[in-house]
Amino acid sequence: MEDRLSRLEGKMYPPEQEKTYAKAVMASATSDSHPVPNLKGKKQDNKIKENKNKHQTAAPVPEIEKSSTQVRKNATAIRPSAKANRKNQLKPKQQLPTVVVKSVSQEIGTSMQLKERLETAIHPNTLGIKIITSRLTFNKGMVLQVQTNEMAQKLQEAINGHDNLKNICGAHKPKERIPHIMVYDIEKCGEETTREIEEQSFLKKVKESNSLPDGEMKVLFRKKGSGSREHWIISMDPAIFKQIKGEKRIQFGFGSFRFKEFIEPMRCFRCHKYGHGKKTCMVDTEHCSKCPGMHSFKECKATEAVCRNCRDFNRKSTNKVRVNHTATSDKCPIFLREREQLKLKTNYGD
Ligand SMILES: [Zn+2]
Ligand SMILES: [Zn+2]
Ligand SMILES: [Zn+2]
Repeated sequence: MEDRLSRLEGKMYPPEQEKTYAKAVMASATSDSHPVPNLKGKKQDNKIKENKNKHQTAAPVPEIEKSSTQVRKNATAIRPSAKANRKNQLKPKQQLPTVVVKSVSQEIGTSMQLKERLETAIHPNTLGIKIITSRLTFNKGMVLQVQTNEMAQKLQEAINGHDNLKNICGAHKPKERIPHIMVYDIEKCGEETTREIEEQSFLKKVKESNSLPDGEMKVLFRKKGSGSREHWIISMDPAIFKQIKGEKRIQFGFGSFRFKEFIEPMRCFRCHKYGHGKKTCMVDTEHCSKCPGMHSFKECKATEAVCRNCRDFNRKSTNKVRVNHTATSDKCPIFLREREQLKLKTNYGD
């Protein structure tokens, strides 16, 4: 009898399992103990609402579906997916003390040359410095991660104080990230005013209309919105962000704009790795964002998406993540981890 009922229900409500699955996955994501960025939480909340709405607008649910048989059936259907979701939330990588070295002389032609000069002049082991990671950068520089803050300080001093190095390169701490917001749907201005003037008068009005404290506020770039509208990405002093962070809209004279915190890790449009842009990319050919192939996504013949970043991660890690999404997906576990890391790097003034 139970079997027959289940089969009948299956025929009557085939999409039901999927809905329940999605709901369960999202619910488990929001209740998961791993740190979840605020933005993500909000997004998911919205989705849950959307999902609920869909459910409400669907055909009325007959009593039969609420039977214990169905509950049991759904419970077994969701279990594996909920498990997979937990797996897909990667913990942020450990933040290590970092030293950035940049060339300041024509003598250095490449970052490799800089590395050679550094290695000739400085021997980390004799200074008691343990290098954990090192990376060459496009702009004739190096990024070094060391074990402790003291080691970072010592390395910085050793480089900046070395007779053979001080005229060719400089070492410093990485620039601190301050909070960013994205302000939505700003009407593009007429051509009679310059971009700079337009931005300055906008920020002045925002400061006045919201009684914001003094401090830096800067329009970093703009994204295209619908029609003649743009979304502006604005960086600001932590004290300013503190004052508006609980709000959904910023006031603007007799009007207001919707905004949200902007935490978008930099992803290269050519190779799809994080941490650099297309201009400073080290690879020559465009990599596909839909599959791990070496072609433009426009020429991609793959029928199913395979994320190259998640595939690379799975090759190196025992902790496997799902790969069935594009490298540009905002659901990508690597993207979500990068975003969480960016948040940890941000100075919120706390
Ligand atoms: Zn790249
Ligand atoms: Zn492809
Ligand atoms: Zn991915």
